[in-house]
Amino acid sequence: MSTFQAPKGTYDLLPPSSATYLAVREAIAAPLRNSGYGYVETPGFENVELFARGVGESTDIVTKEMYAFETKGGDKLALRPEGTASVLRAALEANLHKAGNLPVKLWYSGSYYRYERPQKGRYRHFSQVGAEAIGAEDPALDAELIILADQAYRSLGLRNFRILLNSLGDKECRPVYRAALQDFLRSLDLDEETLRRAEINPLRVLDDKRADVQKQLADAPLMPDYLCEACKAYHKEVRELLDAAGVVYEDDAKLVRGLDYYTRTTFEFVHDGLGSQSAVGGGGRYDGLSEMIGGPSLPSVGWALGVDRTVLALEAEGVDLQLPATTSVFAVPLGEEARRVLFGKVTELRKAGIATDFSFGGKGLKGAMKNANRSGARFTLVAGERDLAEGVVQLKDMESGEQGPVALDAIVSTLQAKLG
Ligand code: ATP
Ligand code: MG
Repeated sequence: MSTFQAPKGTYDLLPPSSATYLAVREAIAAPLRNSGYGYVETPGFENVELFARGVGESTDIVTKEMYAFETKGGDKLALRPEGTASVLRAALEANLHKAGNLPVKLWYSGSYYRYERPQKGRYRHFSQVGAEAIGAEDPALDAELIILADQAYRSLGLRNFRILLNSLGDKECRPVYRAALQDFLRSLDLDEETLRRAEINPLRVLDDKRADVQKQLADAPLMPDYLCEACKAYHKEVRELLDAAGVVYEDDAKLVRGLDYYTRTTFEFVHDGLGSQSAVGGGGRYDGLSEMIGGPSLPSVGWALGVDRTVLALEAEGVDLQLPATTSVFAVPLGEEARRVLFGKVTELRKAGIATDFSFGGKGLKGAMKNANRSGARFTLVAGERDLAEGVVQLKDMESGEQGPVALDAIVSTLQAKLG
């Protein structure tokens, strides 16, 4: 061990398990790539104001969890705690929304940072894959995103996740509901901090995890009873599209999101094998965000799925992703001359697209074969002085154990044929 360790609340992705993380990212991205979403990448940090305004001054993310700092040049920045505000900022800055091709559909994948109390499934550095559809108010877009996330999880083999769905209303009906909820909350026996929260962001009190609070919330007024006609119709349409697609969801009238900018459709993917860190992903419509960060009105919808928790969910369900071995061929030279010749062949194989590795460091046959086994390679190539004198190498099928000579200049074509 070195003097240093990974900082608190972080962990390293290392082989072989890191392959699972890559596969999860890929699996989440695949349905998006297939549905007209283009890849976007933004900086790991932004002007702190973007998050303060975009995520919301009263949210836990901004008040407690943000890594904010001042640079030597006096810029006030923050490591990004989430993706939506940055992606929208980037789209506005590049005028993507003015090209006349709304909605702008983008997906991203990367690291996010929140100063949280670390525990299983909750880290200070974590990874998300997200999608945003910017600039269209269309229930089919909300449905599309939920369907694509459902598809991503199913393609990974996850089964024990549930989709919770709600509508948070819009600027017409939400204020009425908010006032009613606030009245109700004021009548409860709540601690001071929660009462304060009820004044600033009452919807978030519904999200309180404490049992004694939840008990008091049993008769709380619920958003679905306050939806205006337009929001009701919109929500009905989203639900019908999901039904038609065969996506199963549960209505959750108390589902709110930690972020201030959500309107109308709100959803969360929860997994029942994860204890209290049960949310594997979430998202919704954020019709007001663009204006909040100084842009034009651009009704939008998006989600972010947590890669770390998705991997934990796979573990909880005992899903073992069938990842193909990364190395197909392992080459073992015996002696100096063989090393030079075989290394050349390795380069040729790699150019031909065959994943090949080599025994480095002048190992003997026994040690090299151990490495070959560990690499998971289907075939090994072994060559000593006598083989070379005959112009061949020994090709061994690691599955059947079969072994035989192959002419040097037939190695690539033989392996191509055998590997299909
Ligand atoms: P939670 O309620 O668990 O704090 P959240 O509402 O803060 O989640 P979002 O901001 O919606 O989470 O982020 C989307 C997803 O990112 C979450 O569903 C989760 O899978 C993942 N995520 C969020 N925070 C963390 C974290 N600290 N560590 C690991 N994954 C996280
Ligand atoms: Mg959180």
